[in-house]
Amino acid sequence: MQFPLFQTKIEGRGKIFKLSDPSERWAYFHLKAGREIEKLKSYLEKNSFVAYLLGKKNSGKGTYSKLFIEVFGPDRVAQVSVGDLVRAAHKIVLEGGTAQDELLGFLKQNYRGYLSLEQSLEALTGRDVTRLLPTEFILALVKKEIARFPKKALFIDGFPRNLDQVSYSLYLRELIGYRDDPDVLVLIDVPEKIIEERMKYRVVCPKCQLVPNLKLNPTKRVGYDQEKKTFYLICDNPVCQGQRLDSGKEGDRSGIETIRERLNNEGRLMEQALQLYGLPKVLLRNHLPQEKALEFADAYEITPEYSYEWDDAKKEVRVLEKPWVFPDDEGVPSVSLLAPAVVVSLLKQLAQTLNL
Ligand SMILES: [Zn+2]
Repeated sequence: MQFPLFQTKIEGRGKIFKLSDPSERWAYFHLKAGREIEKLKSYLEKNSFVAYLLGKKNSGKGTYSKLFIEVFGPDRVAQVSVGDLVRAAHKIVLEGGTAQDELLGFLKQNYRGYLSLEQSLEALTGRDVTRLLPTEFILALVKKEIARFPKKALFIDGFPRNLDQVSYSLYLRELIGYRDDPDVLVLIDVPEKIIEERMKYRVVCPKCQLVPNLKLNPTKRVGYDQEKKTFYLICDNPVCQGQRLDSGKEGDRSGIETIRERLNNEGRLMEQALQLYGLPKVLLRNHLPQEKALEFADAYEITPEYSYEWDDAKKEVRVLEKPWVFPDDEGVPSVSLLAPAVVVSLLKQLAQTLNL
């Protein structure tokens, strides 16, 4: 699945922004999509929408909704992560107490499915590994979360896990029109090579859970291990006091094949959603063919790749930066857009979709 190219480059507006800096990002968004931002802002004063973000694992769904919230503020927009909801429910059920009473009370009122509530809870907590958590159960959790934000625009992020196509159409059918405001499907097209490198080079700070990437999104400081002759990132967060960030889980290192089945399934579900009539769709694409890159985007919107050298004389790490070129799913040499550039495309398409 490849979506149309989207132009974020505007002739005559060549000012360069550092997109990792929040205040420069604000100026960037207003330069590239100022009119759309104003229209969406006045729309969101009295109206809302529900956007379903559909993309494969590691396609950046969470990042895009966070940047959208950065533009319009948490008073107007909220993000609902389906994975987080299931994990939070799991924790509540294990810990008991009033939070559990409240959750169970809601589920008794709202859950309708072919497994009993008790059986579903056992599947949720992993006491029963023979049954999958029913879609209806996940739906009840998502609806409970939607009810928490009656006046806000929502980004519902992610597929429930282990979903086949039949349960998926049930899931979408139940949610679409659940709230009396426009529904929008936002599909994200990300080549597998990007997913793979994001997995392979990500590191997690054990203290603050920051997740930088050694190759694509390093921290400000990089260290060198003289013995192992390897480079490592150092957490930017001041409270972590220079925490050294070593490479990710073994499963991540072994690459994309460990999640092959999941990626294929998510691809099929996206194809299915793409064919749904009557629902407006926003098609986000985070990659461009290398030969057309500078026609469609500005150079600073393109993801660089970083590598490192140890300068033994100066006793310091040298950081080298160049455009990251990789084959897309069709083998075409491609570059990737930084998340804010994809969000410009989201802002423009969304304003158009809502007829603003
Ligand atoms: Zn940290």
